[in-house]
Order: sequence, then C-alpha cells, then structure tokens
Amino acid sequence: MSLIVVGSMAYDAIETPFEKTDWIVGGAATYVAYAASNFIKPINQVSIVGYDFAREELDQLLWRGVNLEGVEIKKDKKSFFWRGRYHLDMNTRDTLVTDLNAFLDFNPVIPDSYQGSEFVMLGNITPALQISVVKQLKTRPKLIAMDTMNFWMDNALDDLKKLLTMVDVLTVNDSEARQLSGESSLVKAARAIMKMGPRFLIIKKGEHGALLFHEDKVFVAPALPLEEVFDPTGAGDTFAGGFIGWLAHTRDISFENMKTAVIVGSAMASFCVEKFGPTRLKEISRADIDARIRQFVDLVNFDIELV
Ligand code: AMP
Repeated sequence: MSLIVVGSMAYDAIETPFEKTDWIVGGAATYVAYAASNFIKPINQVSIVGYDFAREELDQLLWRGVNLEGVEIKKDKKSFFWRGRYHLDMNTRDTLVTDLNAFLDFNPVIPDSYQGSEFVMLGNITPALQISVVKQLKTRPKLIAMDTMNFWMDNALDDLKKLLTMVDVLTVNDSEARQLSGESSLVKAARAIMKMGPRFLIIKKGEHGALLFHEDKVFVAPALPLEEVFDPTGAGDTFAGGFIGWLAHTRDISFENMKTAVIVGSAMASFCVEKFGPTRLKEISRADIDARIRQFVDLVNFDIELV
C-alpha cells in the first residue's frame, strides 16, 4: 500500500499584510507529502529540484517516509522559485515571481520501484505531464486524484479534458469549477464536471470549507474558524495530502469514507495556515491531528428535534 505524489518542490518568498519571508521551502508536492505522511508510508515522490535544495529538507522528508528515488536533482540549475503577496483578505494573492529554473526540465519518470502504488496524487502541473504519469503506470491504481488551475483551463484545455477522463477525483476551487463547467451554480458545475470523467469532485472554498460531490450526493465540510490565518500558502495542497493520505491509509474509497477524508484534509489545512510555509506541518504529532479532527466534529455536530 503506497502513494505516488507528483508535483513541484520549490522555494517560496511570501508576503502577507503582516509578515514576510524571503526563503522558505514550498512546492505543491512538498505540502502533499508533509500532510499525507501522517497517515501513509511510503510516499513515492516524483519531482525535480536544483542544486540549492537543502539536504536537510530532503532528509526531513526521508525521515517521514518519503521515498525520493523519483526526485531528480539538477546539478546546474536552481530550484523552482515562487514569490507571492497576499491581500488583506488573506485569500486572494498576486504572484510576483515564478522562476521555473530546474522545473522547466521536469519530465516525470516513474521509477520501477514505484509501480504498483495503489494511490496517486497528481499535483498542479501541465496536464500533458500529468497524462504522461498516468500512462507510465503499468497497473491501474485504485484511485487517481488530481489538482489543476485556471491557467491550464485557459492554455491547455484539450489536454486537461483528456486527463479528466483518466482520473477518479478532481480538486479545484469554486471559481475554477465555474470556469471549467461554464455554470454559475456549483451544483450544476459539479454535475457537468463529473460528466467529463472524475467520479468524485472536491470544490474548495477557502475559509468557507469544501464540498464533496459524487453521483447525486453532496457532503459539506466546514473550515475551522481560526482567529488568525498567518499564511495560507499550500493550504490546498495540504488539504489534498490529508485527503489522499487518509484514503490510502484506510484503502477505502467509498463516499462515506471520503467524507472522513475531506474532514482530515480540512484539519490538515487548518494547521498549515498557522505558520509560514510547511513549518507547522513539520511540528505537529498524530495526537495534535486527532484533537483537531475532534474539533471539526464538534463544529458541525448538533441534535435536532422537529416538533
Ligand atoms: P497553493 O497555495 O496550495 O496554491 O500552493 C502554493 C505552492 O505552489 C507554493 O509552495 C509554490 O511553490 C507552488 N507553486 C506556485 N506556482 C506554481 C506553478 N505554476 N506550478 C507548480 N507549483 C507552483
């Protein structure tokens, strides 16, 4: 039982209206791995970094059960670098710099030792590369989940639509769901997107939680009302990591268990935003996570008696 995670590993510079950092480890696949490693080992990581990616960062991932055989280290290039600045709402942000560096050469190759992994999380990269990963898998995994973004809807829609027929779960935010479907109602959008391929759809709504759709069923998960959101970077990837980590741990892909997975993902995301980058994810224990999940249950649990 194992999980393949594909995506960026990076260094980020992050500015919020209150704090700033010029150099912190990031990348979608880094967040997914940190979140999922609380539930499943090994994680078979597929990414590319440059010569500047700190050995200690790789060692921490190894220590958490992340297999790095599929992570290429480019000796002559720097790592992917991203700089973003958040607005006062801490939800919307501007990308100030995207230096692809080593990421420009990313051509994911699935090592033989990764074959047979039952779960796959395709982080947000070019749909053509996501397709190439799926095509390299010799046995169809039990579950393939993918993330994407509006940029690919604008620039690689044909590939994206092809990929959607190959996966089981899509995660997008609400505006991306509307763009992809051309529907303004999220219920109609979900129906239209599921017709494109994925049997399950997760629509993330930031501080308003997430919706899980499957057939004619829908489940709503709240986000934890936090007094302070310190840095939202990576929250979506952390959600995805908690979600798929839980599914891989339980090996149960029923709608009922996916509801739990969505709560686990939401709990992991609520930790992620408490400090810069993945700092908080590196600190927490399984006991912290279990306590946070119980907080979520209390948040939505109510008895009702209709008279
Ligand atoms: P999120 O806040 O969930 O969108 O994830 C932010 C992370 O995605 C950061 O750590 C960035 O390094 C990474 N990132 C930003 N832009 C891209 C991109 N174009 N492709 C892949 N990863 C990216």
